[in-house]
Amino acid sequence: MTIQASLEHLQQQHQQSPYPAIRQRLELLRTLKKLLKDNEAEIIQAISKDFGYRSPYETELAEIFPALKTISYAEKHLANWMQSERRSVSLWFRPAKGSIMYQPLGVVGIIVPWNYPLYLALGPLVAALAAGNRVMLKMSEYTPQFSLLFARLCGKYLGNDWVKVVYGGPEMGADFSRLPFDHLLFTGSATIGKKVMQAASDNLTPVTLELGGQSPVVIDDKYSLTVATERLLFGKLLNAGQTCLAPDHLYLPEAKQELFIEQARKTAEAFYPEWEELGYTSIASTRQFERYQTLFNDARDKGATIIPLFSTGRRVERKVPPALVFDTSPEMLIRQQEIFGPLLPVIRYQDHNEVIKAINAQPRPLALYLFSHDKECIHRYMTETISGGVTLNDTILHVSQESLPFGGVGASGMGHYHGHEGFKTFSKAKSIFMQSRFAATRLMYPPAGRLAKFLLSLMKKS
Ligand code: NAD
Repeated sequence: MTIQASLEHLQQQHQQSPYPAIRQRLELLRTLKKLLKDNEAEIIQAISKDFGYRSPYETELAEIFPALKTISYAEKHLANWMQSERRSVSLWFRPAKGSIMYQPLGVVGIIVPWNYPLYLALGPLVAALAAGNRVMLKMSEYTPQFSLLFARLCGKYLGNDWVKVVYGGPEMGADFSRLPFDHLLFTGSATIGKKVMQAASDNLTPVTLELGGQSPVVIDDKYSLTVATERLLFGKLLNAGQTCLAPDHLYLPEAKQELFIEQARKTAEAFYPEWEELGYTSIASTRQFERYQTLFNDARDKGATIIPLFSTGRRVERKVPPALVFDTSPEMLIRQQEIFGPLLPVIRYQDHNEVIKAINAQPRPLALYLFSHDKECIHRYMTETISGGVTLNDTILHVSQESLPFGGVGASGMGHYHGHEGFKTFSKAKSIFMQSRFAATRLMYPPAGRLAKFLLSLMKKS
């Protein structure tokens, strides 16, 4: 079946049942949960094969667990989200009533990247199904094993009338984003995000763009370096740095360099004692490996000091030890592009004014991480910088809170999903004005007599 035919099929299904009952939606969510639980081992294995090696623990922690949590959260709150909301009407229109009804949009398209192929498919899928939509997903060409498995499992567990999973490369992506969806959610790079938005504009399809960027970390001078280093490296080295929210570069107090190097080495070795064999994930593809090498060589050739964090180790295909990068300059690629790998540029600073200025000179990031107990310092970063989200005194964890909307701003994306915001993104918030049996508005009908003019003068003053 072509993607056009799949879309038409789902559109017909939507027309036959445009407002699925809560029972039906909950059943779909329960089925998705069962799909995950029944096939956990196979999913973990498929993703690991796609990556070369993906730590099973990381797949459980960063894909299976949040996917299950997303479903449970939607199950728990769906009845509440589906309620119409009462809204007030202004005095002159009473006793009419105002309300908002949340209505399914129709068929939603979702484009998925390779780095967390399960969670970044399932997160938006759950939100779209909870909101009563039919869904088509385009999986990444870089996760063929998982994409095929996921397509097969969705067909087996959900049938063909709710969800269709396809996979392919840029050409398929371009065709997919030209389809007249009722909403399109894209997760990936800003370069492709622009193309998707352009293609969607021909159909006036609204888009949510979940992009990446260079998320900065700042450690305040008075914050414990031991704690900050552990929390920073956990976020940075998860999935070998191939996380949209990974701390991209660090602003470190000038005097702390030596202490930080020592602490970072100790932490990285403690986290991944047998990194060549287990625990530490590979760079996921040859294309990504070459990109990593270009960044590394460019920084080294332009004079950066690179300090590996594993002191021992042998070469294993596409596994690269994490490294700190000092003495970088804005001309280096590593300072211009999202790193998406285990390299951490460290920029020394003297005061927070210069850090805030530097952050604001960059495109708006997906996340900002600040380690500080100083209320005034926190207030300054919260009010003087803008980013998709923030984790204070840790990294990446805001993404795991279903109660918080997730999304970028400016170059890091537009729109939100997760939790209630996800439900709203895939719903039409339909405004309904219900006139009352006896409506005073008839006093305003033309031709305008003295009473109407008098009332209008009062209305303008009110
Ligand atoms: P990518 O932009 O190369 O690809 C993303 C998806 O778009 C893939 O499915 C790909 O096949 C498809 N695609 C490619 N060309 C297309 C085209 N012309 N039209 C439509 N679709 C097309 O990104 P990637 O390399 O898969 O993922 C890495 C990027 O994703 C990083 O920038 C990362 O920060 C970002 N990301 C963002 C989030 C987030 O939630 N904000 C999460 C994960 C990754």
